[in-house]
Amino acid sequence: MQSPTEHKLLGIRNLTESTYILEVGRKGMSFEPGQHILMGRSDSIHKREYSIYSGNNNENLELLIKEIEDGMVSKSLKKLSVGDSLEIEGPLGFFGLDKKAVEQKKKFLFVASGTGIAPFHSMVKSIPGLDYTLLHGVRYSSEAYEKETYDSEKYVLCTTGDEDGDFHGRVTDYIQQHKFDKDTICYFCGNFNMIKDAMDLLSKKGFSSEQLHAEVYF
Ligand SMILES: Cc1cc2nc3c(=O)[nH]c(=O)nc-3n(C[C@H](O)[C@H](O)[C@H](O)COP(=O)(O)OP(=O)(O)OC[C@H]3O[C@@H](n4cnc5c(N)ncnc54)[C@H](O)[C@@H]3O)c2cc1C
Repeated sequence: MQSPTEHKLLGIRNLTESTYILEVGRKGMSFEPGQHILMGRSDSIHKREYSIYSGNNNENLELLIKEIEDGMVSKSLKKLSVGDSLEIEGPLGFFGLDKKAVEQKKKFLFVASGTGIAPFHSMVKSIPGLDYTLLHGVRYSSEAYEKETYDSEKYVLCTTGDEDGDFHGRVTDYIQQHKFDKDTICYFCGNFNMIKDAMDLLSKKGFSSEQLHAEVYF
């Protein structure tokens, strides 16, 4: 296990009242898009996993974080000031795209709930020319975090709380109502229930377990 390293906070961008992006010094860390880090304040022993949001060609690291009600770490990170120190371990995990499949220009389906869009943002930023469809499930369209990053023809905002997205309903409703090429490789990230339901639906549509990859946040 690598020992933790100290990184300086370079900036905080608030995207909504509860969701923000931390920009952190990278210190030469190399990572594969889709990987995560363990991160906490240097003045605390508590750390949590956060997917790397930035591309692997960006100078700094970015993390997309939602403040959880009564959450210990997600709330405390937001209170940091520029110049404060963070402790980071990683990169960790294997939630990356198969390199061969990328080279072969395979089709990818990315399914995210909430901040589960973070690893897909990193993949899209890091790998030009990806053939993907990204389904982003949120309650309100205001949670379409930096949607201008994605090709509008490849990004589907699924909203349940208003009708201002591209599709009114859950990502699972979208999957149920649409067809996907049989050789598509599917990646899911976010809450467990969404991932389980989405994987069940795609299995019923004939997708094999080798085509389904998941990163569960909670
Ligand atoms: C591999 C991995 C990558 C992750 N990447 C991200 C990321 O990029 N951005 C991000 O915001 N979070 C991410 N998470 C979740 C993150 O690690 C923390 O669980 C989250 O920030 C809450 O920590 P906390 O200390 O504030 O809450 P705690 O004090 O630990 O309380 C956690 C409570 O909140 C619930 N919870 C955790 N996450 C959420 C959520 N998103 N929505 C609603 N309830 C939740 C838990 O089930 C638990 O009941 C990731 C988790 C994993 C396992």
